[in-house]
Amino acid sequence: MTKKRLVLTFPPAVVERPLVSLMVKEYDVLTNILRAEIREGEIGRMLVEMEGSGAGIKKGIGYLESQGVKVEEAIRDIEINLDRCPSCGACTGVCVPGALRLEEPRYELVVNKERCIFCGLCVDACPFQLIKVKF
Ligand code: SF4
Ligand code: SF4
Repeated sequence: MTKKRLVLTFPPAVVERPLVSLMVKEYDVLTNILRAEIREGEIGRMLVEMEGSGAGIKKGIGYLESQGVKVEEAIRDIEINLDRCPSCGACTGVCVPGALRLEEPRYELVVNKERCIFCGLCVDACPFQLIKVKF
């Protein structure tokens, strides 16, 4: 048995289709949805854990990709150098699950790793390259 933790990114055109359910039925891959951000007409993201035979998982991933879903290994941790952070807020704008926010009254960056789905979008968003990802 193989286990993989993956981030699935759904383009708006397919975000409402039950592609994960279809993949589970077709390829016999146990799939545990750990976190999901799905809204009509928007890019959707899902953190999933897949368990099954290596071949089954590979086929399941191939099926999702053939439907336009981007499949990436989940990044396991993020590190932010808060000492150098001026709390510009650029990273909060791309953080769909709300793991990054500016907290009142001083509007300082606050990180909630519990909400992080490890998509890595904040890394590119930071103009000061203060965010790193760890695998
Ligand atoms: S990797 Fe960054 S943008 Fe993605 S969920 Fe985590 S904190 Fe938010
Ligand atoms: S984008 Fe970079 S500098 Fe701006 S708040 Fe986020 S971590 Fe801080």
